[in-house]
This record gives sequence, C-alpha cells and structure tokens, in this order.
Amino acid sequence: MKFDTAYSLNLDEKLSIYDVRELNFDETAAYDSDKDHFLCPNDACRAAFEAGNTLSTFNAKNVNYRRTPHFKNKSGTRHIDGCRYASNHKGAAGESDDDREDHFPSEFVLTRRTYPRKMPLAGAEGQPPQDLPEIPTTRTNASVSPSDATPDKTSVFAHPVECYVSNIDDKDKLKAMPLKIGEHTATYWAFFKKIEYLQDNKGLIYWGRIKAIKDYTNSFRIDFEKKVWLDKKPYSVNVYLSKKLIDNYRKRKAFLEQIKAAASSDQPLYCFFYGVTPELKQVPSKKNPEQTFGVFSANIENLDHLIIREAPGLG
Ligand SMILES: [Zn+2]
Repeated sequence: MKFDTAYSLNLDEKLSIYDVRELNFDETAAYDSDKDHFLCPNDACRAAFEAGNTLSTFNAKNVNYRRTPHFKNKSGTRHIDGCRYASNHKGAAGESDDDREDHFPSEFVLTRRTYPRKMPLAGAEGQPPQDLPEIPTTRTNASVSPSDATPDKTSVFAHPVECYVSNIDDKDKLKAMPLKIGEHTATYWAFFKKIEYLQDNKGLIYWGRIKAIKDYTNSFRIDFEKKVWLDKKPYSVNVYLSKKLIDNYRKRKAFLEQIKAAASSDQPLYCFFYGVTPELKQVPSKKNPEQTFGVFSANIENLDHLIIREAPGLG
C-alpha cells in the first residue's frame, strides 16, 4: 500500500514523498534519502517498534518519473493492530494500490517549506540512529502534527500536479476536490487550465503539450503546441527561462538534467506552470528584423512553480 507521508528519523518530522524529493535535489543542503530512515507516520505505531522497522521509498530520487512517488511497506515492516498503514488493514486510507495520487492537499503554499535539521549533516553518514543527539524541539513548525494526520498543505508544486495528472480519468473527483492557492479557492479541475484558454482567467496553473524546447545553452524557451486565439488570429505561446533564474536555482542540477532530457526526448511532454500568465508581446522576426510578430509569452519567475513531465492520459 502507498503512504502519503512518513516520519523521517534524520529530520524528526513527517514528510511527504514530495518533500523528500525536494531535499534530495536541493544542492544547498546535503541530504540523501537512502541514508535516512522512514518510519510509520502513526505515532503510536512508531513508538511500538525499534527504529529499524522502516519503510521504503518509490521514485524519491528519479528526476523524470511516470509512476506516482510514494512510501511503502517493506516485506518485513510491522505495524500495531489497527494501524491504518498495515497492508492487510481493510478500508485503510489509500487502499487503492494503483497508480494514483490519493492524497489531495487542500492548499498549495507558495512559500517554500524549510526543513530544520536535527543534527549537523557532516557526521550523518554511517551514524547509527541510536547515536542521534537529543535536541529539544523548540520549533513551532505547523507541519509537525501530534497525530498521524497527513499534512493538508504542500509547498511542492509536483504534488498538486501529480494529483491532477494521475486522476485525469476521474473528472468528478477533480471537480470535487478543493484547492487553495494564495487567496483563491477553487477545485483542482478549475485551477488547471489548458494553455490555449489562458485568456479566460489569470492566476491559474496553466499547462499544455510542449512543441519544442529551445536550448540556448544557458537559457531555455518552451514552446507550446496549442495556439491562443485572439481576434480570430492564432498566436504561439511560450515561456522563457533565463540564465540567471537557472543559475540561482537550488535544484539547478536536477532541473538541467530534466530539461535537457526533455529537449531531446521523443515522448510527448507537458509543461505546467504557476505564477505568471503569458501576455501578447511583439517580438522581432528572425528572418526580417524590421518586422515584428505577436506571441503570447511570459518569463518564468520561480522554477519551483514549473514542471516538465510525461503525462499519459492528458492527450
Ligand atoms: Zn503503522
């Protein structure tokens, strides 16, 4: 069965698998989920076993994934009676073991979650868990919950996107699940907008199939397949990623790996972004610089809010 969260022994916090991916790809702080220990998020259950009773991860480190990332039981993982994460517990939350994200966060938080460290990371490697120093918990992090309730918010864009993509065949569900971003509350269905309809409303998550990724070595332009119609004329749509934006990104390596793989991929790929709305601009023509033509374009301002991925079923 899939777990939406797990307790991280290194961080002494409950994390979603999307948090773990953030930590793995962040170059500004050392973290390796293979060296962490993930335990049952149910506090009572976790307390009943030793720290060696761990869970495993799925797609915690894969930059380009197709199947929904999650935590899962190992063959020997034990749970107390009644723990909802026990594999044989009927009617448990997330009992469907298929390829879906079952946990829909009700809010996408625009400020990044920080992950305070329990211990200096320099000595983390090879240190057995029982040697972890006891540090009094003085944090007031709202994500630390006394129960095994799953955190209802996420700051990782990949999480709501995975909810949408993996449940695209269940429109009723997407139309029923609420999502809050900033001041706005809508449903998942309403928040995700096809790029060709971007004029309908501002401040949504726009997405579309990628036509081409222009690799200018240090910067990139993503061209969408569908065009926007304005006054009965079609206009191309693109988003631009500047060198400065990429150079300053804390997940630069993972991002470059992802976009370079995408630029040379022959699979259908989709781009999702939030935070900017492409607007009609006049740009000089390459063939004839005296002339200009109109294009809907936006400069991406935050790479945390942009995703390029395969999305089977999106069509
Ligand atoms: Zn348990």
